[in-house]
Amino acid sequence: MKAMLLSAPSQLSSGDINDAVAGDGETLVRVTHSGVCGTDLKIYNGGIPVDYPRVMGHEMIGEIAAGADAGTRVIVDPIVFCGQCEDCRTGQENLCTNGFLLGRDKDGGFSDFMAVPADAAVALPDNISNECAPLIQVMTTCVHAQERAPIASGEAVVVIGLGVSGQLHIQLAKARGAYPVIGITGSPVRREMAQQYGADYTLAASDSVGDEVRKLTAGRGADLVIECAGAASTLAQSIDIARPGGRILLFGIYTFEKAELPFYQLYYKELTVINSRAATRENFQTCIDLVSSGQIDLESMISHVLPLADLEKAITMLDERDDHRMKVILDHT
Ligand SMILES: [Zn+2]
Ligand SMILES: [Zn+2]
Repeated sequence: MKAMLLSAPSQLSSGDINDAVAGDGETLVRVTHSGVCGTDLKIYNGGIPVDYPRVMGHEMIGEIAAGADAGTRVIVDPIVFCGQCEDCRTGQENLCTNGFLLGRDKDGGFSDFMAVPADAAVALPDNISNECAPLIQVMTTCVHAQERAPIASGEAVVVIGLGVSGQLHIQLAKARGAYPVIGITGSPVRREMAQQYGADYTLAASDSVGDEVRKLTAGRGADLVIECAGAASTLAQSIDIARPGGRILLFGIYTFEKAELPFYQLYYKELTVINSRAATRENFQTCIDLVSSGQIDLESMISHVLPLADLEKAITMLDERDDHRMKVILDHT
């Protein structure tokens, strides 16, 4: 079968690999659409080390290819976990130390077929389109994060960094009844987008955003700051923006090991800092229901649909600054 093979950093080509075969407890899925994200870019350029050759791709949907359920449209949960360990048994399978990610630790979805654990293939309703369905995997990580920092109706929520995940956090916070929801980014295009997704206010990134947020929240600051930019400077800003007793949700992935932060303010305001990694299986159904019922709009977040053969182009697009680019989807059909 055909697959896009990464044979070394930045060495990507279409090639033939052994047909995927479903083993015991597995389902064979014909992949029809997939999404590309920053993790793929980091694997592609060698920032995240993998064994070569590797088929990347962890946001994929398709059809069950054989058996009683053949033809059923499914999204694949790319996190494979053991189901036996203490983490799995307590509902934290995203932290399973025996687990791995398809598309990074094992071959993923940039191929014709893949064999996945049967319960990792979650059925999709007809009213979710093929183009936007891969984005549900991204959304699960946002939903998981917000479950770790539950928003009460009427709470002031600030989202810093308004890429795909940031815009999803804006929509999810509105769906939870947050008010006001404030989006912060340097990009006027993405501020405009955030307003379309329901942000009550948007602010340009600047040193004075803390004061501006306090003005919009009766002098208090935000109940919850969701940091999606992944930079030390925006983490420091989050500490400034949060109200005394507030929470900061670290959604950006921090790879730096040293940073200057206002630690005294962190202490003095008695802030709660919450981390979140990946998602759990049950987040998939939650997301499918939110999209299917029209509470969350994924359709308008798709800016590009390219054929699978253009994977390299799709990945390198992520490296170029383009405020109009949102989600890039690959069509395998
Ligand atoms: Zn991803
Ligand atoms: Zn486990």
